[in-house]
Amino acid sequence: MEVSERSKGVFPAKFINDYLWLIQYSAVGFYFLLTFGVLYSCIFVAYPQVFDTLEQKYANIIYLMYVLCNMMGNFFLGSITDSSFKTGYVLSDPPKTWMFCTKCNQHTPPRSHHCFICRACVLKQDHHCFFFTRCVGLRNQKYFIPYVLYVFLGSFHALRTILVYLNTTYVPLEWSFYCIFSYLFPGPIYNWYWDYGDVTFGKFVSISVLYGCFSTTSGCLFLFVGEMFLVARGQTPYEFGKGIRKYSQGVYNNYKQVFGKLFPLNFLFPLPNKTKEEKSPWGEPTFYRSI
Ligand SMILES: [Zn+2]
Ligand SMILES: [Zn+2]
Repeated sequence: MEVSERSKGVFPAKFINDYLWLIQYSAVGFYFLLTFGVLYSCIFVAYPQVFDTLEQKYANIIYLMYVLCNMMGNFFLGSITDSSFKTGYVLSDPPKTWMFCTKCNQHTPPRSHHCFICRACVLKQDHHCFFFTRCVGLRNQKYFIPYVLYVFLGSFHALRTILVYLNTTYVPLEWSFYCIFSYLFPGPIYNWYWDYGDVTFGKFVSISVLYGCFSTTSGCLFLFVGEMFLVARGQTPYEFGKGIRKYSQGVYNNYKQVFGKLFPLNFLFPLPNKTKEEKSPWGEPTFYRSI
């Protein structure tokens, strides 16, 4: 009997389990705090200074709201969609490709792995997402990928707008000690205290938001490109590491399997759709067609 390799747990499981609540709250808190920070810094602080006409200002507000709707919609759908496999099946004659998870004490379909944070086997496990507070897998990967795309678009827009705003109203962006000092903490606090660079509450929030936007812009671009690359190859990160490509059915079909028939629409608006899962020829266990 084969045991899922990830069931053995090579990660610092004890530390993550002990501080799980703190990590989850911090991730979700960071996400919402940054979202509010971006909305405040862009709409109330930067836009009135950066854009000369009302049309430009409203066009940018509409863009930001569109990004926000996609981000929040996919965040919501991804967070409520469970990719875990909790059937408790112990089969007398399991299909050869099925494995046995000793933690859940059940047989699991191919490509599923045990997540020690979710404490469950996850179908076509991609990774555990602390922002979704659950694993990204078979049923919610189609929400995760547009989600990271829109987080990237929103934070890149905010990063660019806030830098233009601070360049003209705070300290010009250049290679000088004063500039580096004024943007690196605790420099902005020092400037605020001693009245350098005309620091206001809005500017202080904008400088703080820059840090979050820089990390989410680079992180989400990396995740989006990486996920799209893996979906094109028909692999999970685990399979990529092991060089397994036997599940690939061609680029178009691989995308269709993750996103469904109308897959380009997932990138235009949050699109709730069910992953196709079919009954197997061997009876009770469900065969996951799209894995
Ligand atoms: Zn398990
Ligand atoms: Zn998980």
